[in-house]
Amino acid sequence: MGSNPNELSETMPAIVSEGSEGMRSNTTQPSSKPATTQELYRSIPNVDEVMNTPEVEELLLAGVARAVVLDGVRRVLDNARAGIAAGSIVDRYHLERCVIDILPVIESMLAPHLLPVVNATGIVVHTNLGRSVLPAVAREAVVDIIEGYSNLEYDVDAGMRGSRHDHVESLLCELTGAEAAMAVNNNAAAVLLCLAALAGGSSTVVSRGQLVEIGGSFRIPDVMAASGTTMVEVGTTNKTHLKDYRTAIESLRADGREVGLLFKAHTSNYKVTGFSSEVDLEELAVLGREQDVLVAEDLGSGVFVDLAARSGGTLPHEPTVQESLATGADVVTFSGDKLLGGPQAGILCGKAEVIARLKKHPLARAVRLDKMTLAALEATLGLYRDLDQACREVPTLRMLLMSAEECKLLAEELATAIGQIIERSGLDTEANYVSVVKDDAYAGGGSLPDVALASFAVALVLEGKSAAEVEHMMRTKADIPIIGRIKDDRFLLSARTVSLEDRATLLGELEYLLARS
Ligand SMILES: *Cc1c(COP(=O)(O)O)cnc(C)c1O
Repeated sequence: MGSNPNELSETMPAIVSEGSEGMRSNTTQPSSKPATTQELYRSIPNVDEVMNTPEVEELLLAGVARAVVLDGVRRVLDNARAGIAAGSIVDRYHLERCVIDILPVIESMLAPHLLPVVNATGIVVHTNLGRSVLPAVAREAVVDIIEGYSNLEYDVDAGMRGSRHDHVESLLCELTGAEAAMAVNNNAAAVLLCLAALAGGSSTVVSRGQLVEIGGSFRIPDVMAASGTTMVEVGTTNKTHLKDYRTAIESLRADGREVGLLFKAHTSNYKVTGFSSEVDLEELAVLGREQDVLVAEDLGSGVFVDLAARSGGTLPHEPTVQESLATGADVVTFSGDKLLGGPQAGILCGKAEVIARLKKHPLARAVRLDKMTLAALEATLGLYRDLDQACREVPTLRMLLMSAEECKLLAEELATAIGQIIERSGLDTEANYVSVVKDDAYAGGGSLPDVALASFAVALVLEGKSAAEVEHMMRTKADIPIIGRIKDDRFLLSARTVSLEDRATLLGELEYLLARS
């Protein structure tokens, strides 16, 4: 970890500039007289010349695809032209120089774009950093399934075609008490499918207080429009009453319009406080039954465990999927990778006839899950058969439920280890040091928006570097980027979101960075 910036350098020949054998020059010898712009442009070698150098031939021999090398050479030559135009290249661009510039360009072309990072931000479900870290069993299940063929849509007992829905449906029913369930690509897709299949071509009644934007491009009114349902808003921004829904249903029906759905959305990271009220799911469910209209609830971050009880009251009560279903919702939707702590997925649980309609809708095919996600989801859900086990083994739950004392201990261990690295690196320990500081963490992902999780972080101070410079170094100079935060002009590494594996990675990277700084 951290010692070697790129594996490629091991297989690629070292490219040396001066005096190396076979090096030729395509231009006149450098002279002390400054070159004119025209001379600079003329000094740029052509693609064939570069491709024929022994250094580039060695790259090809090392197994780098010809198309990649060719593309890399063209980029380097384009950069040279741009550099001359911008005035940043003032010497002739010899073949030697060009050959030196190629290696880093090709290395970056071959490096994967999707990278692991260390999340030291203290935001547990960080949407930009991939949301939930999968439990170990989920990781193993994915590897098992992708290594070969699987029974993705094959019923092994019957020897005939099966359904990909079968892999998680009974488990979801067992865990939530639902009659039926299905999983799709993400919760946005689950909501879209739900609206399209149950109320496409008819109306959906929703409170004005819930017409929220969750983030990115997910806005309830836009999703309604995309699904083909007609959105009928009731109530006001701050208050909606049961009679608002009833009146809306009655007047729609008086106009000869069909009412497909009563829809309730969790407002996620937005809250109306003060003089406000929303209709409970329970009342809405009663109205739905009375009026023969289906009731759907978008829970956002679905949770199976009682977070308030599990955290000893540190976390607020977040309605569980089981509670929503027991309250009488016909269908509930939630994410797989928020508080549930599994892979990106959208889960729909509800009445058998409702889920059957969803499965038959054409959108179901468009938003279906792939086998990797199904494997990870099934394994994650399996942990919830024993809620104690889920709280221990689902990283998202473990990080959320970690006590402040445990977090402090982790921060102290991290600080000690970093302190040792500073000493080993021979840096001045007066000017380069760490300290453990109080620093609130957050659930993130639009979940538990107002809840600050009392936490601890390590503040890292490096001689001659501002907090912004330390942050930049950790983020951009390590093989595995270390993402921390700046607070009160200090660079902080939150202990809550750094697992033991990630701590080892972080320390390895830091050792490497300090050795070179
Ligand atoms: C996060 C969220 C969504 C979107 O879920 P994704 O899994 O990100 O697609 C929809 N509704 C609510 C209330 C949410 O919080």
